[in-house]
Amino acid sequence: MTTLAEDIQAQIDRFNAGIQERNPAEYEFHQAVQEFTEMVMPYVLEHPKYRDGHILERMTEPDRIVIFRVCWENDEGSICCNRAWRVQFNNAIGPYKGGMRFHPSVTQSVLKFLGFEQVYKNALTGLPMGGAKGGSNFNPKGKSDREVMRFCQSLMTELSRHIGEDTDVPAGDIGVGAREISYLFGQYKRLQNRFTGVLTGKGVAFGGSLIRTEATGYGVVYFTKHMLARHHKTLANKTAIISGSGNVALYCAEKLVQEGAKVLTLSDSSGFIHDPDGIDQNKLAWVMTLKTERRGRISEYTEQYPTSTFYPGQRPWSVSADLAFPCATQNELAEGDAKLLVTNGIQLVAEGANMPCTMEAVRYMCEADLLLAPAKAANAGGVAVSGLEQSQNAQRLPWTREDVDHRLQDIMAHIHQQCVVYGEEKDGHIDYVRGANIAGFVKVADAMLAYGIA
Ligand code: NDP
Repeated sequence: MTTLAEDIQAQIDRFNAGIQERNPAEYEFHQAVQEFTEMVMPYVLEHPKYRDGHILERMTEPDRIVIFRVCWENDEGSICCNRAWRVQFNNAIGPYKGGMRFHPSVTQSVLKFLGFEQVYKNALTGLPMGGAKGGSNFNPKGKSDREVMRFCQSLMTELSRHIGEDTDVPAGDIGVGAREISYLFGQYKRLQNRFTGVLTGKGVAFGGSLIRTEATGYGVVYFTKHMLARHHKTLANKTAIISGSGNVALYCAEKLVQEGAKVLTLSDSSGFIHDPDGIDQNKLAWVMTLKTERRGRISEYTEQYPTSTFYPGQRPWSVSADLAFPCATQNELAEGDAKLLVTNGIQLVAEGANMPCTMEAVRYMCEADLLLAPAKAANAGGVAVSGLEQSQNAQRLPWTREDVDHRLQDIMAHIHQQCVVYGEEKDGHIDYVRGANIAGFVKVADAMLAYGIA
């Protein structure tokens, strides 16, 4: 005689075996779907409309994937060839929306995982946005501005057929910042002879929104504040460890500092720096210039601030602190790291990056009843302000910094509240991972069912 829990687990295992068979060797995608189904399957089985509608099978199949060649000429006059994708995962609740990633590690599996996550993240924001993701295995590192420009123009020449302000609105992600978005948008405008909100993250002078640059990092901190507030705590005097030194990490650090917390670490793919005195606003300003203007390495921090230490090839999870913010990339925090965090007395982990914690690490932290903010809730501030940028573009009216920031704070509060609604346990503990997944699922699933069989 099997128990109910064993029955549910068997269904989850059967479902995920099917995912693996239909999507061979797409490990990141398997991981994202497995994490999702572990949270959502019990809810689906309790609700016949979802179970009988085979909604999970339908939701794990992208609407479509466009794959294309991107040829461009480097500064030496040689012809280079990259591969690019746009995964249009689900537009049940609005036009596709999600970033473009340029990094040599980009594969179809990575973009399917990111597109899948994006669907539920976008749903949580309460804005009418479907989910997509795209990118290329092109590596912008070490390339001249002109090379990046030629690559972006070539990529957009194909991508422009598949996107549009009411169809699919890409944005930035790893390796795609203000420079790349500008080249991409400029090429779209030339090709279509239309000035529309087809990309977000644009420069403020040409349709971008104030606060978009800061939004993901700020949003992570706003979400964290709500989590702490339920425990009658604030960020003041808390210590924080952060990975990454890109867009998300730096603005997460900035908001933490503004809230009175002490940031101890930052990292990049070559290692991490530990500054026991804290990375204050002035030091952060220096890092921002280093990273965005000089495109330098985080190790240079120790030359500027000699009381800090650089740890080559390592991640910052061994440093004792109250709060941890993985803000670099996927699977950067493994089970061993999670154990170390718990041993070191960490109180809260908020995922700034997408899927930065491995499945084993997530399970370990949930079982330890650690406060864990999953990416689809915690880092949704970026796409939320992208949604606000679309609204401003449609209205042809720019909003003030304060206006956008207030709306961002409201959206993060709304996301937090949905996590509480679906994630509160009998003892009052909030399982944010469960809450975020089910809240996002319900919204998208109900829309899909309303359309009939599609
Ligand atoms: P950036 O390119 O601005 O920065 C990425 C940072 O992560 C850099 O410090 C980079 O170091 C580091 N990094 C990248 N790959 C690796 C790796 N394999 N190992 C170790 N470090 C690595 O990207 P973002 O800050 O925009 O994005 C970071 C994460 O946040 C991603 O998961 C992204 O999907 C997610 N995200 C971003 C949003 C946004 O608005 N930008 C919105 C929501 C989520 P190096 O320079 O050495 O490569």
